[in-house]
Amino acid sequence: MTRVLVIDDDRLQWKLVQAHFKNFQVGTYELDWSSTYEDGLSRLLTGAYEVCLLDYRLGERDGLQLIREAAGAGCRTPIVFLTAESSGNVDIQAMEAGALDYLVKGEISPRSLERSLRYARKLGETLEALRRLATRDELTGLLNRREYERILAEEEDRSRRFGNSLALVIIDLDHFKAVNDTHGHPAGDAVLKEASRRIASSIRTVDRAARIGGEEIALILVQTDRASAQEVAQRAIAAVGSSPIEFSPGQSIPVTASAGVAAIPADGGGASELFAAADKALYLAKSRGRNRAVPAGEPKAAT
Ligand code: GH3
Ligand code: MG
Ligand code: MG
Repeated sequence: MTRVLVIDDDRLQWKLVQAHFKNFQVGTYELDWSSTYEDGLSRLLTGAYEVCLLDYRLGERDGLQLIREAAGAGCRTPIVFLTAESSGNVDIQAMEAGALDYLVKGEISPRSLERSLRYARKLGETLEALRRLATRDELTGLLNRREYERILAEEEDRSRRFGNSLALVIIDLDHFKAVNDTHGHPAGDAVLKEASRRIASSIRTVDRAARIGGEEIALILVQTDRASAQEVAQRAIAAVGSSPIEFSPGQSIPVTASAGVAAIPADGGGASELFAAADKALYLAKSRGRNRAVPAGEPKAAT
């Protein structure tokens, strides 16, 4: 079953699309119709559709805007754009905005519609796989360092503009070298993978976890102050140490981690100050015996 969202303010066009679907040769489709920009966008963002057919003209606003807004909100649903013959180069603009294919109204047949939907879905899968390769760390599945830097810069900018707080947690596994030295590098890899999984599952979906070094993981926490970030860090560390980690069948070892916590604006106004403050706090966590999270800004003598 393929769920298709049709966003078109023209009831006649919707009826036409419905009729085409009845003539499809393969596959079963379930169609939903949105006749307004707002309703279409909010339905699209539910992520409940495999593909979307989107009209250029939508009352006061247009489909190009909708594509951009959806993409900005993280929408990955493949979009096929519908244009009128007379609409100049909007097809190209639509592709640039993120549509995966386009159809010219009046030239649509059941076959061309079916082909286009299949093509857009396949291309969407390919792009998603490429995006994953470009943004994820292969071993842990966490975001990679480049993506971490991009997101941190973007969120720093946003926090400056809107006055939101932004927190950074840097987590480093304790005595990790000993794991490699005692059990071998593949065991170290297995431990790192499972520790990462535990950390990732301890955070909210809006927060992001990235592998920024060998066994260093950063958490970017939006709209979070230092005190709340400290709680997240403690939860992540508790998750890592919750039970021994199995690195091969029947063989497991206890693992702990340490964390440094800092936030904008409490510990500075920019990403580099944020990182420096969190890194310094991490160093304190290590020197105080590891297996703990330490917030930035504490006097060095405090315990
Ligand atoms: P500390 O508690 O002070 O952090 O001690 P540590 O031994 O964890 O710290 P150190 O920085 O001395 O060592 C980190 C080690 O992590 C070095 C390297 O052998 C190991 N490491 C880094 N990346 C990987 C990886 O991808 N796989 C494996 N297996 N080991 C890695
Ligand atoms: Mg370490
Ligand atoms: Mg390290």
